[in-house]
Amino acid sequence: MRRLLLKGGRLLDPASGLDRLLDVRIQNGTVKAIGVSLPAAGATVLNVKGLVVVPGLIDVHLHLMNGLGAFGADPDLFGVGSGVTTVVDAGSTGHSLFPVFRRYVAEPARSRVLAYVNLSTLGSVAGPGYAALADPRLIDEEKIAAVVEANRDRIVGIKVMATGTALGAEGLKPLKRARRLADSLQLPLLVHIGESWGRGAEPPPIGKVLAHLRPGDIVTHMFTAHPGGLLDPNGKLWPQVCDARDSRILFDVGHGLHNLNFDVARRVLDQGLQPDGVSTDGHRGNRAGPVYDLPTTMAKLMALGFSLSQVVEMATANAARLLRREKELGAIRVGRPAEITVLRSEEREWEAVDSQQGKLKARQALVPVFTIRNGAVCDPLPSERP
Ligand SMILES: [Zn+2]
Repeated sequence: MRRLLLKGGRLLDPASGLDRLLDVRIQNGTVKAIGVSLPAAGATVLNVKGLVVVPGLIDVHLHLMNGLGAFGADPDLFGVGSGVTTVVDAGSTGHSLFPVFRRYVAEPARSRVLAYVNLSTLGSVAGPGYAALADPRLIDEEKIAAVVEANRDRIVGIKVMATGTALGAEGLKPLKRARRLADSLQLPLLVHIGESWGRGAEPPPIGKVLAHLRPGDIVTHMFTAHPGGLLDPNGKLWPQVCDARDSRILFDVGHGLHNLNFDVARRVLDQGLQPDGVSTDGHRGNRAGPVYDLPTTMAKLMALGFSLSQVVEMATANAARLLRREKELGAIRVGRPAEITVLRSEEREWEAVDSQQGKLKARQALVPVFTIRNGAVCDPLPSERP
């Protein structure tokens, strides 16, 4: 029976409206008490004075089929190894490989691993540069439905690539099929925009993509500078983007090697469109930069003008809502599993770099100190974050 007491920290939990000095007592992996100056009473005391205690951070877009191709990363690298307790794979596997992902990747991880199942049977096996959705035989609604029903505890939606490269000659037909399937399964779609892998392929117009989406669906790579993004040639949001936001379609950052551009981000933010989710699009090829980890991506949003509590809200309460898991995740509450991140917020100047080597002066850095999940204290892995 392991007891822990987080003592003297700043508890910042936007879902609960809390931002003040409060202790947290944990017993057998569950939050037992939140209060001022709680007594040790036999617990191991973790002194978190000067640190920020937040609900376990949630990274809603990553590539976690560990060992697959150039991308598949160990979930714990971007998870508890980066101060994050929940990591979400963005469609590495289609229906046929999902059970392998579950058994050999998700279940052994120390981080909580959720996933979007890919509309394409190939998933990411062939890499994003292939026309994986152009062959209608590689979309099998019955088999996807079966794998979803067997894995509702892990599968949070269906991943679709809305790029010219992936769709090929099929155009938006695969997206139409995804729409019908998502409706029948009552799951959201996660839609990749931005022709980041194209060799001259023409992306579908964003308005036509958004026309297939419903409230609660997610568009990822909202700050992409690649063709197929949210801005028209004059740098204005396409009108259908504003309509989509008004009808509660959600927008996610999805930093990645290609898709966080500070100039695009500024224009999008200046026109009033804010991210619902902040995510790394992390994989094996970007943890050494430009992405590093979720805390660094959150700090980049702070350099763009968001406050600490706003980015924490994105990575906790909002992310949980985006995943439709707000009853389990995204808050520190008595009686819930203790999934907690402890961060150090450092006042120092550093240079934030985007996916196109654009630079921005940042004045605050976020450094993971440890996480708590399943009653265990997990230290972060080494990182070269700036
Ligand atoms: Zn991705």
